[in-house]
Amino acid sequence: MIANYHTHTRWCRHGSGEIEDYIREALSKGLEELAITEHVPLPGDPDSRRMYCHEFDAFDAELNSLIEKYADRIRVRKGFECEYYPDLLAYYSRLRKQHGYEILILGHHTSADRSIDNFAIRSPGEVSRYAMEVCEGLKTGVFTFLAHPDVPLCGYSYFDDAVTDAMSLIFETAATRNIPVEINANGLHYDRGYPSPRVWELARHYNPLCIVGSDAHHAADLACESVDLCADMAIQFGLNLQTLLP
Ligand SMILES: [Zn+2]
Ligand SMILES: [Zn+2]
Repeated sequence: MIANYHTHTRWCRHGSGEIEDYIREALSKGLEELAITEHVPLPGDPDSRRMYCHEFDAFDAELNSLIEKYADRIRVRKGFECEYYPDLLAYYSRLRKQHGYEILILGHHTSADRSIDNFAIRSPGEVSRYAMEVCEGLKTGVFTFLAHPDVPLCGYSYFDDAVTDAMSLIFETAATRNIPVEINANGLHYDRGYPSPRVWELARHYNPLCIVGSDAHHAADLACESVDLCADMAIQFGLNLQTLLP
């Protein structure tokens, strides 16, 4: 592992550790690049398990100062993990253009209308809807890569036609647009049902770019064994693994 592009800190309110703890951990593991990608603050603060909007300025100032402090030792990059909420695309683009949050991860945890928790999908219809929304998101051109495409398997533990069709559609769309899809080490680490070997075996047929993301919420998880196991899975299934993002 020489880079990690999916990292949370205590700023997300469900993780631990300061930004600097993750940078130090990255340095100790020999990483050349680290992206800090908090769950994006949402206008109106509807979610108490992520950064509040009023905290953004302090977070941004701290991140900027750490980027400068460590500039000669590691490239720290700015990003956010965002749901595909069509009404917020202009806001996401502003964060990129005005504040330098260049790595916008599509992590579609909740349906576009905020009605379905995609970690707790229960029906084939919800699986299909997840895939449709993810593909719509990929087609906007706003997102840098797709986090945990197989997140529905957290709640929906079948490998049926709905899942096969959904994952095929996502991998085909991502491959066509050269948008990497992430094998998520945090899901493996906490045994959440994803990354699913059957899904990644299927991915090979569409040959999307793949990256391993640690999705660490604790500094010790940043470059843990689960990250290596995800990379092993990519090799096992002959996937096109990308280690550095341009
Ligand atoms: Zn999180
Ligand atoms: Zn994440």
